[in-house]
Amino acid sequence: MALINENYLKLQAGYLFPEIGRRVKEFTDANPDTKVIKMGIGDVTQPLAPSIVKAFHEGVEEMASAESFKGYGPEQGYSFLREAIAENDYKANGVNSIKADDIFISDGSKCDTGNIQEIFGNDNVIAVTDPVYPVYVDTTVMSGKTGNINDVGHYNGIVYMPCNEKNNFVPALPHDKVDLIFLCYPNNPTGTVATKEELKKWVDYALDNKCIILYDAAYQAFITENGIPRSIYEIEGAEKCAIEFRSFSKTAGFTGTRCAFTVIPETVVAYDNKGKAHKVKPLWNRRQSTKFNGVSYPVQKAAAATYTTEGKKEVADTISYYLENASIMRESLEDAGYKVYGGVNAPYVWVKTKNNMSSWDFFDKVLKETNVVGTPGSGFGPSGEGYFRFSAFADRDHVIEAMTRVKNLS
Ligand code: PLP
Repeated sequence: MALINENYLKLQAGYLFPEIGRRVKEFTDANPDTKVIKMGIGDVTQPLAPSIVKAFHEGVEEMASAESFKGYGPEQGYSFLREAIAENDYKANGVNSIKADDIFISDGSKCDTGNIQEIFGNDNVIAVTDPVYPVYVDTTVMSGKTGNINDVGHYNGIVYMPCNEKNNFVPALPHDKVDLIFLCYPNNPTGTVATKEELKKWVDYALDNKCIILYDAAYQAFITENGIPRSIYEIEGAEKCAIEFRSFSKTAGFTGTRCAFTVIPETVVAYDNKGKAHKVKPLWNRRQSTKFNGVSYPVQKAAAATYTTEGKKEVADTISYYLENASIMRESLEDAGYKVYGGVNAPYVWVKTKNNMSSWDFFDKVLKETNVVGTPGSGFGPSGEGYFRFSAFADRDHVIEAMTRVKNLS
């Protein structure tokens, strides 16, 4: 008799985006002539930059000739890409502790943040922020580290750390014992950032308590303000207690092309049940070499092109385009009297509803009064209730049109 992994039965049915789709359909069916503008999902809209496309083509051409054809590549990624990342993302940013060999190329941070749990035992307590990028929670459930969901909408066994205006959307250190801590800055969904001082508190906490920080820096390319850390490894000691996830998805429009990487320094350790320390990096290497056969060569060539002089400029231009969208959104919402967070160092604008209106009521109001679709904050966790996320991944004319309507929002 085949037995199911019962952890999967604990998962709640995907509710947020199907429910958004249902409400939008109901609205468009009733108002067929109304143009609805979608600013809900976090997917890029701008095409790949020219130098990336050129490198991508060259990669394909190399595969077409016997002399340059490539079969399986290294599971960890080609060294040309790993070297380029170490040099440009870390060394050039003042981080000398990260070597090319610590970098593992993958096809996405979504899979990496989920898969990483496999190398950690099920007795670990996982801490996440609330609101949260839902992948951390669902993959924790799948991995068997939780009980069932409770009345509040939290899974028993996970430590949820509320993020709100009071704490500037950076959680307080947990009172409960935790072992693995997911942090994401710039944050999805709130669009807010953590300062060096705030991250230092977390690194010190992790070192003192033998925890590991799982740091998702998928949106680091959007940081515009000086002094905001792009990498957890800018904090002293993080190379002993943090794993960092980065992706080309939002940095360079790779959501449909797929390339990302995970960084595990040699000095990060976890413990066996006798308290003996083990390096984490070889375990991840073992996991990847066993279960993963690498990212395609043309895609890695395309990713490496983001580090050329031309590529850097093109990628920065696209990021500026989205950030300009975010700035228009912030201004319009503020003009309409809303309290607005994020959107300066991130492509997400996090809006507080007025008069404690619920996130879903606000969703309906925005849809009906302005024909714009956003994402209810409560869909990212109970502490997101009363907030709403607008994504800056949209075409400029749509943003301008949407925000002209939003300005008149009551
Ligand atoms: N991490 C965060 C916080 C995200 O918001 C996303 C995508 O929306 C990802 C990771 C997924 O990245 P990838 O496309 O590399 O799988």
